[in-house]
Amino acid sequence: MMNGIAMTAAEKTALKKKIKSEAKKFGMNLAGFAAASRWEEYANTAPEFYPRSIWPWSKTVVVLGAQIFLPMIETTPSIVYSELYNTTNRLLDESSYRIANFLNTLGHRALFFPRDGYGDISVLVEKPEAAFSQVLAGYYAGLGTVGFNHTLLTPEYGPRVRFASVITDADITPDRVTKRDLCKNCGVCRKQCPVGAFTPREDKIIADMDKHRCASYHQKLKNELHYPCGVCAMVCPVGQDRKIYGARSVSEGGMIHCRSFGSKNS
Ligand code: SF4
Ligand code: SF4
Repeated sequence: MMNGIAMTAAEKTALKKKIKSEAKKFGMNLAGFAAASRWEEYANTAPEFYPRSIWPWSKTVVVLGAQIFLPMIETTPSIVYSELYNTTNRLLDESSYRIANFLNTLGHRALFFPRDGYGDISVLVEKPEAAFSQVLAGYYAGLGTVGFNHTLLTPEYGPRVRFASVITDADITPDRVTKRDLCKNCGVCRKQCPVGAFTPREDKIIADMDKHRCASYHQKLKNELHYPCGVCAMVCPVGQDRKIYGARSVSEGGMIHCRSFGSKNS
């Protein structure tokens, strides 16, 4: 096994603090730290998805989160939400690049796993699976728990947050995994999903999900230029952001307005 730079406890704490402050400076709302060994420990995926199977020197996964503004996702499907989605993706990729770069300058191995990792939605229709689950990474980094709708629910933004991950050999003290489920099992996401992609399960809180159905709907929205859907994230009652905006922050007329411009089939 290849080893990274040995660090004292004080150096680990200082590095963690510095990464958090850099992430904040880059506009990130959340930053959590997972030990790379958690992929093996929890074994929620096949071994080829483990960071240490891909880059054997991995020790820490730093997960960064950028919020999705409720008043914008409430207009979905619309170009307003579509552009917000693109903006968070750009911010995430740039921020995780910069954090990896920063770690490199200190002599640590580092890289970032981009937030999506697929070429086009048509690929997901054929094979609805990502090379790296940012949701699981966020869970292992203590940022929240996986809800009924397969998203990572966070105390701050519920599922209205997107993630990218920095993988490094810097041995940083990990955050604790959240034990208490944040999902209220309210079923709102299931009822509101436009294609009925969720089927509840008896044995666990996370639903069975027809990913092909969801991806096919996204393909339609992409063709109409107001991708993605996001309804199951938009309606979820979990998240402090609800306290700022309330149950509904866009007017009925305003929603129609935002959907009427900038995309096809509005
Ligand atoms: S993103 Fe939309 S289509 Fe996909 S599961 Fe959520 S609500 Fe359903
Ligand atoms: S809408 Fe309800 S059931 Fe769905 S993820 Fe949120 S809390 Fe869980």
